[in-house]
Amino acid sequence: MAGDAATPVILWFRRDLRLGDNPALAAALAAKRPILPAYILDKSGEGRGPGGASRWWLDKSLRALDAALRQRGGRLILRRGDSEAELRRLIDETGADQVFMNRRFEPEAFVRDADIAHDLQEAGVACHGFNGSLLTRPGAVLTGAGKPCRVFTPFMKALLQAAPERPSTPAPETLVTPEGPAGQDIDAWGLHPCAPDWSRGFDWTPGEAGAAAALATFIESGLADYAVGRDVPGRRGTSRLSPHLHWGEISPRGVVRAVRAAVADGRVAPAQADKFIAEIGWREFSAHLLHQFPYMAQRAFRPEFDAMPWRADPEGLQAWKQGRTGYPLVDAGMRELWATGWMHNRVRMVVASFLVKHLLIDWREGEAWFWDTLVDADQASNVQNWQWVAGSGADAAPYFRIFNPVTQGEKFDPAGRYVRRWVPEIRALPDRWLHAPWSAPAAVLAEAGVRLGRTYPRPIVDHAAARARALDALKSLAARP
Ligand code: FAD
Repeated sequence: MAGDAATPVILWFRRDLRLGDNPALAAALAAKRPILPAYILDKSGEGRGPGGASRWWLDKSLRALDAALRQRGGRLILRRGDSEAELRRLIDETGADQVFMNRRFEPEAFVRDADIAHDLQEAGVACHGFNGSLLTRPGAVLTGAGKPCRVFTPFMKALLQAAPERPSTPAPETLVTPEGPAGQDIDAWGLHPCAPDWSRGFDWTPGEAGAAAALATFIESGLADYAVGRDVPGRRGTSRLSPHLHWGEISPRGVVRAVRAAVADGRVAPAQADKFIAEIGWREFSAHLLHQFPYMAQRAFRPEFDAMPWRADPEGLQAWKQGRTGYPLVDAGMRELWATGWMHNRVRMVVASFLVKHLLIDWREGEAWFWDTLVDADQASNVQNWQWVAGSGADAAPYFRIFNPVTQGEKFDPAGRYVRRWVPEIRALPDRWLHAPWSAPAAVLAEAGVRLGRTYPRPIVDHAAARARALDALKSLAARP
């Protein structure tokens, strides 16, 4: 490159809001130039912008990154607008001649980034892309025939072989940002909700330090019993790392490395660690699939499912979103989501199945609601999981396997800890009736202060009838020529 040692380079932060184990940052440091760390809030170039809960998270995560940079003598330059236009402006203002970034693999951002790299390259500015968000880049894991893997188990096997461990690069001790380019004030971006502020129950610590703390807590208290604990929604049995991973406050390599270290020093059994690493594998599988089959963001992965006779049911959809379906486990999950920005994975499967099978409402409606309300909303994981539940995805649950919200509740929340927390109006019901209040004798309901249809809804659909309707819909697909 033509620039001399004083010519700055741009470090373009995106879904990699961390200083440790950050390949783009490590490469920028190796260039031995002044570094301009920048974040651009791009409203148009990345497809659907972040939902409300993600904007809440981004607000805090950017502040945490800026604070970490300031501790090292730097700062984060915030810009808002079209990414390429803002990069060009920064280049014009500073004379920067290189851009370092960790790649994004979601289809729209990937294409947009390639265009930017091409245009800047033509203008004499080199763009360097790295993989900081996945164990392996999409395309690195293929079948023996060189095709994308559509089945999880062989994918996972190949992933573990294709993703050799790499040492982590520590956060730099100093990172001085040159004087000059102005940034915008994050307060003016309005990412935190107001009027109303629905985030009061959000109990999260966004940022790199929060991610490290969540990982340490999980290794200390959840990992040893993960294989069982991960299925119990009334317990803190999972890592809650998903939003940190989505925003790149921690790298999947870092997570896997720490888990393997816990096995190596005898703190956890290998089987527990393997189960957890397999879940990280589902994150990878989702990212690879969406990258290789971009159409699955909008359409069924298995095209025959595009003909599914979805119902228009605005009232059912509203009852589902508000946690008023009359099925306690479904309602508990939807209320946990609204109150905290997160929902337990077991319950995500149950509520998603209820929407697409019991109510026969298009999975895209549920995906959009999750997009807006989850702090971990992630296009690849969200789309892949919704399609998995709907039966239309790669390696999906068979469509005819319809979760029964009552037996799921009895099996995974037998003592009712989860349901009682989120559906307090039925808290006083005995365990025996908690997951199916409509089946309780009148005296039991009266004793518990529950008046069905008044204090808690009656079921909006009958399980057996809804199941039969869903199976008929499936048969109608099979009958198509
Ligand atoms: P842990 O059990 O501790 O797992 C560790 C990590 O593995 C997670 O942080 C996550 O990155 C990954 N992971 C675990 N399960 C899955 C999975 N099934 N698919 C992909 N990655 C997984 N996850 C998201 O990150 N973003 C989403 O938008 C999202 N939408 C979902 C929608 C539906 C309908 C369903 C059924 C699941 C969805 N998931 C999504 C997957 C899963 O529910 C969450 O990743 C998990 O609950 C996060 O909690 P955790 O970090 O405590 O998970």
